Amino acid sequence: MIVLIVNCGSSSIKYQLYDMPGRKVLAKGLLERIGEGASALTHRRGEEKFEIARPIPDHKTGLSLILSCLADPGRGVLKNVREISAVGHRVVHGGERYSNAMRIDQDVIGCIGDCCDLAPLHNPPNLVGIQECTLALPGVPMVAVFDTAFHQTLPREAYLYGLPYEIYERYRIRKYGFHGTSHAYVTNRAAKLLGKPEAEVNLITCHLGNGSSMAAVRNGKSVDTSMGFTPLAGLVMGTRSGDLDPAIIPYLNSKQEYSRVADIDRMLNKKSGLLGISGISNDMRTLGDEAAKAGASSRPQLAINIFCYRIKAFLGQYMAILGRVDAVCFMGGIGENSAAVREQCLAGLENFGIAIDLQKNRNFPRGEECDISEAASRTRVLVIPTDEEGWIAEETYKLCK
Ligand code: ADP
Repeated sequence: MIVLIVNCGSSSIKYQLYDMPGRKVLAKGLLERIGEGASALTHRRGEEKFEIARPIPDHKTGLSLILSCLADPGRGVLKNVREISAVGHRVVHGGERYSNAMRIDQDVIGCIGDCCDLAPLHNPPNLVGIQECTLALPGVPMVAVFDTAFHQTLPREAYLYGLPYEIYERYRIRKYGFHGTSHAYVTNRAAKLLGKPEAEVNLITCHLGNGSSMAAVRNGKSVDTSMGFTPLAGLVMGTRSGDLDPAIIPYLNSKQEYSRVADIDRMLNKKSGLLGISGISNDMRTLGDEAAKAGASSRPQLAINIFCYRIKAFLGQYMAILGRVDAVCFMGGIGENSAAVREQCLAGLENFGIAIDLQKNRNFPRGEECDISEAASRTRVLVIPTDEEGWIAEETYKLCK
């Protein structure tokens, strides 16, 4: 069964074509800068890479280019796009309604629309992707896989803020959590690696990339997570601040430089985090290189230290919440690739039953799953390359097969 996965952003479309079951990737690609004149599609088939530069005014034209690429005799992998049996859409916000992937019908489309207010940058383009795919592939079932769904099992004490209860009732302000597909996928893999049923594993999953979040997982279900009402909360990220004292916002707003709330919002989302602290970059590799040159008291090193400190603080919180932790899991660009960050986050936790094997942490084969803990460590430490698209393909296949 051929399954197409589509992730529609405001000016981009990411896609992957799978042969299911077995999650074999037939082709994938990224269309960028839609509506900006210099649009470019990078399409990959196995090791082959094709670059197509041409103006793409809108998502409709973009999807039609992608579909024609997939069935192109020179670059494609299909004889005809009618071989596509289902389409899985990554949808950022499912509100309080969806705790699972859903076959898309008018009701689901209505709910995604209702959640546009909660995710104004993401849900509208997600909806456009669904509408355009429905037009281009009539009769093909579509599935929505929500970034928020895995965290719908949070108990009320974890998802409610200390605000007047009416604010939750009136404006739906609560913790939703994001990166759900990654936390769900890694929970599934970790259970397999630990040789336990998913319903019996307790985990702390750490998705560390440009955007970063952690989740506390009890008996296979998310019971707390670091992102909140929006993906700005929690850990220090590439350009996002993570948690801060809410009183900072009205205080800054009283200063002339930040008299517009939109400027505060932009600063918190785009100019903070690793970039804002270091003054150099949001990229962990660059910061590692710069810190090695500039020394322990440099701002790049300070940015790395704050990043790791915040992760360790959440680890402590989640150990207390879970009581028993079978494994701490690392995924995402930084979680999978930075031995230094993993080592710094876990340093000194031996008394809590967490000890990594420093050699294994540094030397295990890139891109593979690995248990990097010492044999005596009560809690396992696992590095698990995440596969959000593969998980969306699985969910789509399960609902449509
Ligand atoms: P996104 O959230 O955009 O999907 P990724 O998961 O791709 O981000 O993670 C990007 C981050 O991973 C960047 O900060 C990058 O520097 C970091 N990263 C990738 N490879 C390495 C590496 N070998 N060592 C340290 N950091 C790395």
